[in-house]
Amino acid sequence: MDGQETIAAIATPPGAGAIGIIRISGPGTRQIAKAMLGDLPPPRQASLRSFRGETGDVLDQGVALWFPSPASFTGEDLLELQGHGGPRLLDLVLARVLGAGARSARPGEFTERAFLNGKLDLAQAEAIADLIQAATATQARLASRSLQGIFSRHVRALVEGLTHLRVLIEAGLDFPDEELDARPVEPAAFDELIAAAEGLLSRTHQGELIRDGLMVVIAGPPNAGKSSLLNALVGSDAAIVTEIPGTTRDLLRAEIQLDGLPIRLVDTAGLRAATDPIEQEGVRRARAEIAQADHVILLTDDTQSPEAEPSIPRDIAEALPTGAPITLLRNKIDRSGRAAGVRERADGVTEVACSVLTGAGMDAFRQYLKAVAGYQGPDSGEFSARRRHVDALQRALEQLKAARDASRIAAAPELIAEELRQAQASLGEITGEVASDELLGRIFSEFCIGK
Ligand code: GDP
Repeated sequence: MDGQETIAAIATPPGAGAIGIIRISGPGTRQIAKAMLGDLPPPRQASLRSFRGETGDVLDQGVALWFPSPASFTGEDLLELQGHGGPRLLDLVLARVLGAGARSARPGEFTERAFLNGKLDLAQAEAIADLIQAATATQARLASRSLQGIFSRHVRALVEGLTHLRVLIEAGLDFPDEELDARPVEPAAFDELIAAAEGLLSRTHQGELIRDGLMVVIAGPPNAGKSSLLNALVGSDAAIVTEIPGTTRDLLRAEIQLDGLPIRLVDTAGLRAATDPIEQEGVRRARAEIAQADHVILLTDDTQSPEAEPSIPRDIAEALPTGAPITLLRNKIDRSGRAAGVRERADGVTEVACSVLTGAGMDAFRQYLKAVAGYQGPDSGEFSARRRHVDALQRALEQLKAARDASRIAAAPELIAEELRQAQASLGEITGEVASDELLGRIFSEFCIGK
């Protein structure tokens, strides 16, 4: 790692503001501080200083904060210059810092160094980005809890339990002739860990749902009421509703929150065989959206589909490779006379009967959307999490189960030990003990510069 370089960046957002902050971190910071401030300010105390240019001219006056290594955010020597928040002025001060030996920091590079120097783990570093990008109060609250290490502590507790088991099993490997080998690890010991992993997975899933929400695609033939449904869910006129079939030629998107669950809605063009090239393009885009959906709502006009159980068209099912749920929404029951409600058919398809126009059955539909996602409400979240955390935990859980199954059939202890080792590695991906450069690059590039 290029920890030898000194990095600098403006840490406050672009534009004019009351205060502008420049951060400098790395081994050259001490020299830069002396050159610009005349001397090193007392550590960790706010000191009023002149920030001087190369020729000794005063560029600005403000507060200097000096954090010598290792007691700093990055773990390196770190200086914060808090001056006036004029964009030209800040450029000038930054140029002076760069001229004195620093280089411009990449996005997230301060946090990356904090991670590499063991100041925080990877889940905590991600929580910093989540805290900055939080769009809702719940997201901010949960990101703050992850930053405090609440999620990481749960992961570590699981790793501890795993390590304990590994020690028992691997001791048997190392000293096969000793007593230890005669006492194989009880499958119950695995069950306890598996239950803990399942509990954590469910909580992590809630954290991920609150952070990332769901993508719900509304599909169906023209005039079924797709735009009307989008409008009803949004509660405003985001989509243009007309009576001419095929009007919704492009995709309409809207973001809503159902009880704290963020939902990205996409209203697609109908998937009918279109002849008009513009409409054909709409159909192509609709397919592309469906492919990424977490849930597809297929609308039918209940006055137009008299058959008892309309089937899910093959082109929609095929456009959805992930196995995400497809729900059939029978709309316009105010005219067809069907009773509102949700029912599961014998063939496994779930049907919701409602009227987008009158609102009949719409509350049940909203509840149903949350239930299908496994969302337990805004208070269910304990910490923020990401898809990659859920994936890693899922993998760890499968590996733990494989270890238990191996122990049940009295498989070779080497096999059990190997499964446990892999489960531990999966958990290590969450906190960053096991992390590729590619993963780190992806995570930190999402940050803003100066963070
Ligand atoms: P889209 O082409 O699927 O987007 O359908 P629209 O949302 O444009 O709706 C087509 C027509 O059906 C419009 O005239 C809507 O007012 C009407 N419509 C939508 N939902 C209902 C409903 O629940 N009941 C009745 N009676 N009409 C509806």
